[in-house]
Amino acid sequence: MSTEGKHVIIVAGAGPAGMAVASSLSKAGHEVIILNRDIKFGGLAEYGIFPSKLKLRGGLKKQYWELLERPNVHYFGNISIGNGKDLTVDEVQKLGADAVVFSIGAQGTKAIGVEGDSAQGVFHAKDVVYHFNRLPGFGDRPFEMGKHVAVIGAGDVMVDIAHWLVRYKKVERVTAIVRRGPAERKYNPKEIRAVCANMDVEGITNEVDRIKDRLAAVGQNADDVLKGLTEEFTKCEPKVSEASMGFKFLASPKRILVDGKNRVCGLEMEDNKLDPKGEDTVAVGLKQYYEFPCDSVVFAVGDKVDETVGLPYKSGMFITSPNKTGNDPDDALFQAYDETAQTVIDGVFLAGWARKASEGLVGIAKRDGDWCAEVVNRYLSTKSPGNHSDAKVVLDKLAAVLTAHRSHPVGLEGLRILESQERSHWGEDCIGEFKYTSNQEMLELIERGKS
Ligand SMILES: Cc1cc2nc3c(=O)[nH]c(=O)nc-3n(C[C@H](O)[C@H](O)[C@H](O)COP(=O)(O)OP(=O)(O)OC[C@H]3O[C@@H](n4cnc5c(N)ncnc54)[C@H](O)[C@@H]3O)c2cc1C
Repeated sequence: MSTEGKHVIIVAGAGPAGMAVASSLSKAGHEVIILNRDIKFGGLAEYGIFPSKLKLRGGLKKQYWELLERPNVHYFGNISIGNGKDLTVDEVQKLGADAVVFSIGAQGTKAIGVEGDSAQGVFHAKDVVYHFNRLPGFGDRPFEMGKHVAVIGAGDVMVDIAHWLVRYKKVERVTAIVRRGPAERKYNPKEIRAVCANMDVEGITNEVDRIKDRLAAVGQNADDVLKGLTEEFTKCEPKVSEASMGFKFLASPKRILVDGKNRVCGLEMEDNKLDPKGEDTVAVGLKQYYEFPCDSVVFAVGDKVDETVGLPYKSGMFITSPNKTGNDPDDALFQAYDETAQTVIDGVFLAGWARKASEGLVGIAKRDGDWCAEVVNRYLSTKSPGNHSDAKVVLDKLAAVLTAHRSHPVGLEGLRILESQERSHWGEDCIGEFKYTSNQEMLELIERGKS
């Protein structure tokens, strides 16, 4: 049964996953309505990927512009979904589209819940990333990072934060705090090139020596582990600051130490050992504690979805159907699920980091979007021919709700005005391309550009 050109799909969220869904479904001839919290499209491709990665960002942007230019794609930026936002989940569902895909990313922050984590000088990585990527609400807020910053984590986000601290903030020292050992680091070796010119190799050598017995206990040779770690410090970008970067391994922060003004002055750390677990290892606390001085802490320990949006939620994730279908990709994994009623929510799907928080790079999010589009197409093909929504009716309903809520959607024309305004500022004092940091300013510029 052909579904070509017959259906209306709402895609909430214009990051790599949502844009992939929109691309596949619009290519199949469907009308696609995109609702996006940010004025600009791209999600973390715009506000997450390090701003100096101009080639990667430029390539994605080009694809996204091409998508938005398609006549059957309708973009509404500056539209947030959630309780008390521009539209509730219920209102989105009642617009009458044939299917709704939520690809709104993972906007919540994971905390490890240690005492003192509300002290001045404690940050969540995503907020810091949003700050240096100039996301409205974050770009124009001061982020006072101090001199010695402890970044908790061992993945690419830790490296991005260190990149910013070392090359742009030019702090004195950055220490990555890693629960397990050097062999369990998770970052891509290519990413470390941004900071490896600033590595305190002597300090790292001493640190690996300090934990050598605990590495040996799980069959890891300290010399080999050190070699593996430091051999990646090649093709380093030229040094632009005197900041030094090091690691603290087998360390779990237990408490944030604060001064009399509730400002971070250190971390109470617990030493860990490694225990084998199958092919892998786990960190086990040794109940030996020590103080580690620093004046800022950034938690780069992953994200979770925003439970306040109004989609069924459990343990950091939106709930998807537990009833496997056997299809490839499996429809169940993309279907929103109401656990109380024990049924899938008809016509509601999830894709990208909204489905699996912090799961991989742009390519993975895009593939997830492509898979989701396949699942949606399968769902649409079960509808009888002729039983489909009318894009004009859905768009009129949407316009009426947004007017009633005094929302200010930004469409393609507004995006074009904004793009040309931002281009005229390129080269100004910010990392990568110039971006406005306030929605108000962007909306005013767009209004002026239209008149
Ligand atoms: C710090 C960092 C650096 C990264 N660097 C790289 C890199 O160098 N290379 C790489 O390939 N990958 C990188 N990634 C990974 C990549 O950014 C993600 O894989 C990808 O962006 C996830 O896509 P997504 O569409 O699922 O979510 P997102 O990109 O988060 O997009 C979500 C979209 O939903 C919108 N939205 C959010 N909430 C709502 C709401 N309530 N209502 C409506 N819309 C909403 C947002 O405005 C956004 O447009 C990085 C990620 C991070 C966090």
